[in-house]
Amino acid sequence: MQLSRRVMSIQPSPTLAVDAKAKSLKAAGVDVISFGVGEPDFRTPAHICEAAKQAIDAGFHGYTPADGTPELKKAVADKFQRDNGLTYATDQVIINVGGKHSSYLLMQAMLDEGDEVIVPAPYWVSYPPMVILAGGVPVVVPTREADDFKLRIDDLAKALTAKTKAIFINSPSNPTGSVYSAEELKPLAELCADKGVYIVSDEIYEPILFDGRTFVSTAALGPKIFDHTITLNGVSKAYAMTGWRIGYMGGPQPIIKACAKIQSQSTSNPTSISQKAAVAALTGPQDEVERMRVEFEKRRDYIMGRLKAIPGCSCPRPGGAFYVFPNLSAYFGKSFDGQVIKDSVELSAYLLEQSHIATVPGAAFGEDACIRFSFATSMELIAKGMDRLEDGLSKLA
Ligand code: GLU
Repeated sequence: MQLSRRVMSIQPSPTLAVDAKAKSLKAAGVDVISFGVGEPDFRTPAHICEAAKQAIDAGFHGYTPADGTPELKKAVADKFQRDNGLTYATDQVIINVGGKHSSYLLMQAMLDEGDEVIVPAPYWVSYPPMVILAGGVPVVVPTREADDFKLRIDDLAKALTAKTKAIFINSPSNPTGSVYSAEELKPLAELCADKGVYIVSDEIYEPILFDGRTFVSTAALGPKIFDHTITLNGVSKAYAMTGWRIGYMGGPQPIIKACAKIQSQSTSNPTSISQKAAVAALTGPQDEVERMRVEFEKRRDYIMGRLKAIPGCSCPRPGGAFYVFPNLSAYFGKSFDGQVIKDSVELSAYLLEQSHIATVPGAAFGEDACIRFSFATSMELIAKGMDRLEDGLSKLA
C-alpha cells in the first residue's frame, strides 16, 4: 500500500511522542521525571467536572450542532468581548475538538496548493505539518534569542511574497514563553493586514502571564487587523482541561463558516459533555485560573534560577506559558562513554536515557540549539529534575 504523499511528508507529533515514551518508561518501572508534554498537572476545577456530570445525568449526550452548541458559542463570544475587547457575533465563532484542531481546520479552509504560511521559529511543533497537510508551504522565519525570540519586522517583510496567505503568531509562546507587547505586535500585524495576509493568533496560553503583564489580543490592535485575524483559544491550558478537547475560534464569518463545513464532514460536533463543561469554565468563577497562574510563576522563577547556575546555558526569561527553552548547544560536541552528542535530539535522548528526564529537543520547534522543558509539573519534581539535569550535563566531557 502506497500511502499518500501528504502523510509521508510529515512526522508524528514529537511532543506527544516524548509523552508516550516517558509514560512507557514509567510503566516499565523507570523513575522518569517528565518535562515533556505541555499539560497542566492540576485537576480540572470541581465546578467544571460537576457541569459535565450534570450533562450526563440530564441525557445531554446526543449530537449537537456541528460547529458547537449555541450556549457555548455565546459563552465564547461573551468571553472575547469581556476579556479581549473583541466583538464577534455568534456566527463568527466556532467550537472545535481542541486548539490543535482549530489551527488544522483553518489551514484546510484557507490554503490552496502552494500557498505560503509564515511560521516564525521557534514554533509549536504542529504548525508546519498542518500547513503541509493542507497542501501549503510553511515559510519558516528564524528569530533570535537576543530578541527574546520575537519576530523582527524586516525579517517579516523579507518573507512576504505574493503567495503568502497567513502567518502564525503564538503569544505567550510555546516553546519559548516569550510574550509580545501591544507595541511590538502592532507593526507586525499592520504590515500583514496591509498586504492582505491573515494572522492566525494562537492565544491558548492567554491567562498564564508573569511579572504583572497584561494580555494583548492581536485582533484588538485595530479594525483592519481585526478583519485579518482569526483568534484561536481553548480551555485546555487555562482550566487544566487538555483531555476534554475543546478549542474555539473567532474570526471573519466566511472563514469560520468554511471551517464549520469541514468540521461537519469530518469530526461532527465536539463532545457534547465537554461543551457543557466548557460553558461552566468560561462563565463560572475564575479564581482557580489565577491560582494555577501563581503556581506557574513560582515554578518559572525557580527553574530560571537553576538554569542560570548551569555552565554554558543561556535562556530568555519566559513572560508566560509554562515552558523554558534553554540554549544548551555548549554541550554539543561533548561525549559520554565515547558517544558524541551532536545536536538537541541526541542531547534530549541522552538526558532521557542517562538522567531519566524527559524533554523535547529544540529541533522539533525549528531551533536546534535549545531543549524545551515544560514546567507543568510539581515543584518537588522540578527540583529533582533540575538536579538530574545538572548532574547529566556535568558528566559530558
Ligand atoms: N501543546 C502541548 C505541547 O506542546 C500539548 C501537546 C501537543 O498537542 O503538541 O506539549
